[in-house]
Amino acid sequence: MMTSLDGQQQHQLAEYLNALRLTSIREQFTEVAQQAARESLSYEQYLLELVRHEWEMRQNRRIARLLRESNLPYEKTLDTFDLSRLPTQAQHAVTLMQQGFFLDNAENVLAFGNPGTGKTHLLCAVAQHLVRQGHRLWFTTCSLLVQQLLRAKRDLTLGTSLKKLHTFEAIVIDDIGYVQHNREEMEVLFTLLADRYERRSVMITSNLPFSKWETIFKDPMTTAAAIDRVVHHSVIVELNLPSYRMEEAQKGKHTGQQGEKSFSETGNH
Ligand code: ADP
Ligand code: MG
Repeated sequence: MMTSLDGQQQHQLAEYLNALRLTSIREQFTEVAQQAARESLSYEQYLLELVRHEWEMRQNRRIARLLRESNLPYEKTLDTFDLSRLPTQAQHAVTLMQQGFFLDNAENVLAFGNPGTGKTHLLCAVAQHLVRQGHRLWFTTCSLLVQQLLRAKRDLTLGTSLKKLHTFEAIVIDDIGYVQHNREEMEVLFTLLADRYERRSVMITSNLPFSKWETIFKDPMTTAAAIDRVVHHSVIVELNLPSYRMEEAQKGKHTGQQGEKSFSETGNH
């Protein structure tokens, strides 16, 4: 026969659970005890139920926090991405990336292709998938990143900034080479790439093939060194496709509707 707690004991238990920060258990122990009585659960099964609730709540909160922190556009997911458009080799790369081993090995991901081929959507989708598995990733555009690092350098806090970025297993750097940067700006980007080399991943999208990266890094030596560092351990995804937007617009013409409307624009490239 179950004996329930008297008022003072109830209060005491709630206080203990508060002190131990076991919020979900505090909120649910009475209800779960009633359920245990109804279903004749053993003491251990009751404990399992309670702890499961606590764990699930914490896990959900953690993922929600990681998603907020990640700065990723929520609507760019694998569910809304048509993988069948990709070349077979790229499809294989996506399957591999979803497992997240590249993060453990500090490998990089590079997505190349013309504008509109889905580079940003794809890498954001893979990144979001990994965040939902509990990984810490952060999305930024190359321009914003460069500005942030430059500010840090001028404030003499570049080291601290890089250290902070180290807490992210991968940084998605969107659109390297899209905006022309001056030498000082490129230097801080190079510093970041060198800093992460073999320690943390970067996931880069670019419209420019390596052969044009000298326009990004200005001199041949820095360019070679940058390419060397990002390529050394990397997965390269080549999206040599027609632009998705163009193709959808074409389809829209034939069917009388605008294909692009189903995808909300986020302001990210
Ligand atoms: P890129 O970064 O290569 O310029 P985006 O990732 O921004 O291209 O894609 C352009 C638009 O087309 C976005 O709205 C994106 O969601 C959509 N898109 C691109 N490829 C696909 C795809 N394979 N499936 C679904 N939507 C796609
Ligand atoms: Mg893009």
